[in-house]
Amino acid sequence: MIWLMAAAEARRRRGRLFTEPDIDDDSTGDKEAYMASILARYRKTLSDRTKFHLGYPYNLDFDYGALTQLQHFSINNLGDPFIESNYGVHSRQFEVGVLDWFARLWDIEKDEYWGYITNCGTEGNLHGILVGREVFPEGILYASKESHYSVFKAARMYRMECEKVDTLLTGEIDCADFKVKLLANKDKPAIINVNIGTTVKGAVDDLDLVIKTLEDCGFSHDRFYIHCDGALFGLMMPFVKRAPKVTFKKPIGSVSVSGHKFVGCPMPCGVQLTRLEHVNVLSSNVEYLASRDATIMGSRNGHAPLFLWYTLNRKGYKGFQKEVQKCLRNAHYLKNRLIGAGISAMLNELSSTVVFERPKDEEFVRKWQLACERNMAHVVVMPSVTVDKLDHFLDELVEGRSMWYKDENVKPPCLASDIGSVNCCCPQHRMIS
Ligand SMILES: *Cc1c(COP(=O)(O)O)cnc(C)c1O
Repeated sequence: MIWLMAAAEARRRRGRLFTEPDIDDDSTGDKEAYMASILARYRKTLSDRTKFHLGYPYNLDFDYGALTQLQHFSINNLGDPFIESNYGVHSRQFEVGVLDWFARLWDIEKDEYWGYITNCGTEGNLHGILVGREVFPEGILYASKESHYSVFKAARMYRMECEKVDTLLTGEIDCADFKVKLLANKDKPAIINVNIGTTVKGAVDDLDLVIKTLEDCGFSHDRFYIHCDGALFGLMMPFVKRAPKVTFKKPIGSVSVSGHKFVGCPMPCGVQLTRLEHVNVLSSNVEYLASRDATIMGSRNGHAPLFLWYTLNRKGYKGFQKEVQKCLRNAHYLKNRLIGAGISAMLNELSSTVVFERPKDEEFVRKWQLACERNMAHVVVMPSVTVDKLDHFLDELVEGRSMWYKDENVKPPCLASDIGSVNCCCPQHRMIS
């Protein structure tokens, strides 16, 4: 029901996007002017909406002016990035360059990895889990219940048996529960989705503990496959001091990351890397393409590799490190100010995702484009989120709360079961902490 209402609302807002038949018939001048006015208005909306954006992990700060000259080409990397197809308008050289960059980041030799630039982090998960299933057709998929919904989508699509594992209050996978579930299914290989930053709380699963739990339960390295979902933090963690390392030196099978999140890109994209040995199980020869095809999609966006290449080259490891540090600093700033204002909040150690009390006013939520779940909302501090923007947000939030909770009988929500009573500032828990 709720989505039906939302769909009706969206339809109502869509407004008029096409010229009326009478303009359609005669002068093209009128038509062009009309279309230009629609685009101008749309551009204004985009720029306004960009200004008030805090909830999604997208870096909205980039300038790809140098690449506009390439908009005139239909660049398509269909098929395997490492094998030429007959279609010559491609950007494989850039795609492979980007993949090599990530291979170096995640410690795998050039001749030992395979990967491609995907349409998004979800496609990376779909691919990683597919590789796992092809390696272990009888395997059971294990994923913490705070994993991204694309992981459970994969389980449904591939009709895999799936065990949902409990989480700790931080949002990390609970390895005690993982152990119980592994021991109950000792006869079948394990395919595990490990979160390098969960969507809601930015929690990083303890990869080393996951591996140790598998080993302790008698799973040798040839009986498990680990896919690391690093949609957001896959690109931040390597630059956080003291953060545990995501590396192919450990017994993992694949890592994926979103390209439009921390890097920032006008179109969604992502990177998926796996071991070359695994991909041979997956690929089949498609004569029509004259190319091996181990990717999920057919046609693939040939512009995305250029955008990624451009930013990776411009910023480099040093540039990313600086931005990661800035994000973590600003996230702490936000969390401390929330707590200072008596608002429930939590920030995981390796994260720039600040979880806090869900604002009472839906208009406020919409304005700042906050993602909400149960009593929680979050702000993901990305390079485009400045202290000024945070101050503006905090001022409005504090002002809003003074109205929402003006009446003694209306109380802020309790977040104890979401983020723990120590982080909860609701009237009941404020006293304790
Ligand atoms: C965003 C996200 C995804 C999905 O990435 P898309 O690029 O939006 O498809 C998967 N996993 C996690 C943890 C995410 O945060």
